[in-house]
Amino acid sequence: MSPFTDSERPSKRARTEESENRHSPGSSHLDQHAAVQIVDEDLSDREEVDIVDVAARGSDLYLDTINRAVLDFDFEKVCSISLSNINIYGCLVCGKYFQGRGRKSYAYAHSIHDDHHVFINLESTKVYVLPDGYPVSDPSLEDISFVLAPSFTATAVATLSSPTHLAKPFYDLSSKPYLPGYIGLNNIKRNDYMNVVVHSLLHVAPLRDYLLLSHFGAKQPELVKRFAALAKKVWNPRLFKSQVSPHEFLQEVGRASGGKFRMEVQGDPAEFLGWIINQLHKDLGGTKRKNSSIMFSTFQGEVRMEVQQVVVRPEAAENDKPRFDIDREIKTSTSPFLFLAVDLPPPPLFQDAVEKNIIPQVGIHTVLTKYDGVTTQASDSDHNESRGQLRRFKCQRLPPYIILHYKRFTKNNFVEEKNPTIVNFPLRGVDFRDYLEAPTSHPHTVYDLVANITHESIAGTTRDKENTVWKVQLRAGAGGGDNEKWFQIQDLIVEEIRKEMIFLGESFLQIWERRPDRQEGEMHVQADA
Ligand SMILES: [Zn+2]
Repeated sequence: MSPFTDSERPSKRARTEESENRHSPGSSHLDQHAAVQIVDEDLSDREEVDIVDVAARGSDLYLDTINRAVLDFDFEKVCSISLSNINIYGCLVCGKYFQGRGRKSYAYAHSIHDDHHVFINLESTKVYVLPDGYPVSDPSLEDISFVLAPSFTATAVATLSSPTHLAKPFYDLSSKPYLPGYIGLNNIKRNDYMNVVVHSLLHVAPLRDYLLLSHFGAKQPELVKRFAALAKKVWNPRLFKSQVSPHEFLQEVGRASGGKFRMEVQGDPAEFLGWIINQLHKDLGGTKRKNSSIMFSTFQGEVRMEVQQVVVRPEAAENDKPRFDIDREIKTSTSPFLFLAVDLPPPPLFQDAVEKNIIPQVGIHTVLTKYDGVTTQASDSDHNESRGQLRRFKCQRLPPYIILHYKRFTKNNFVEEKNPTIVNFPLRGVDFRDYLEAPTSHPHTVYDLVANITHESIAGTTRDKENTVWKVQLRAGAGGGDNEKWFQIQDLIVEEIRKEMIFLGESFLQIWERRPDRQEGEMHVQADA
């Protein structure tokens, strides 16, 4: 019920038609005839000056009809009727989106037909009462604009990866406790493979902090803006409900990738991660130079590859491993990397009844010998020029965050098969020194795990896409011991897990964080002792 009778309602006093074009960018893409005409007349909110001091008239106009439980602002901001994305308002009573607020607008019509009167402009976060059309400013609405557009300070961001973040409980509207950053992401259809990547990236401190503190303008690419908006929601300390839908971001991923990564079709997290890092790099103005974007300065390292043609030696025994021959030509090249791809030893082909239930295991340093500069690999490429080549690798520069990709899936002509080998690794203190050839000025080579993506399939070793489950395990806090906890997230299911459980999964992607240098990270180093 309105606290006012009709005659008491503030009325619009003036409407100024401005000659300048006030449409948001993108309106030029509209059909220049029909659409623009409607927008001009009613949907664009050409300056309607309300000379009304709302605060003086009472601030609780219809505000008791607002239903926060239906508000999350997660879905793509398009009008539920016109499907336009220009000048969209959210109804604070039912949560639906409508275009415009002028007399012939959809929001206006909704306010009359459904008797819903409070609307928020999804761009400016200003609140209006319709059909009257006056703005409302009230401190009680601040929580709503914060859920719509959370903002962070440098001070708030500084503690997100520290043990202090674990100390304080946070509660959603239904008084359910949650930990910002460790909340469920909806699986809209088959987007769990993207959810685990999103979560992993949003737990890489420099990237996360960059996104949380960002104020991207209209000119920034949509993908960057939506990724930052998603980051702010995932880490929002004042969520109405402790889960977020990545819908708005993933819609843009679908568009920007030309349909390669869609939420309706199960995909490969490693391919998606590679794509999103490169795309965000480009969208943030990155070039081929190192450190030219936050993506490259965080994840890019450098690796040297040495290649030699294999010569079949008649005297070699059948099981001799091919070796580099120092007398012959070695081709050396250095290239940047964003991932280190790691091969798993082939699982035994035949197992007897006793061995059947034994899952093969391997230590992380065993598989990382690929990068020790000594161990050789036969080229697995089918290209003619690289057939019969031996290769060996050594890193020349390690990035602050190392992404490891365990290659579990081998494509052959018939099926995609999965290597079920379990990789054993400690959560903290993996030293990559043996895989690096660099000057002594190179920063620390000791890394701690921050994110671990695992694969589970219900149907044996075959990669059955229908029965595939992707999960991510994320570190909260830092420094080991009681200063850190681990959470496992599978779409909306968030659970704390024991540290001993982490290496039991089939790790597929991992992100390792360089430990701070001793002088600045004394506490971290000591915590290991
Ligand atoms: Zn409504």
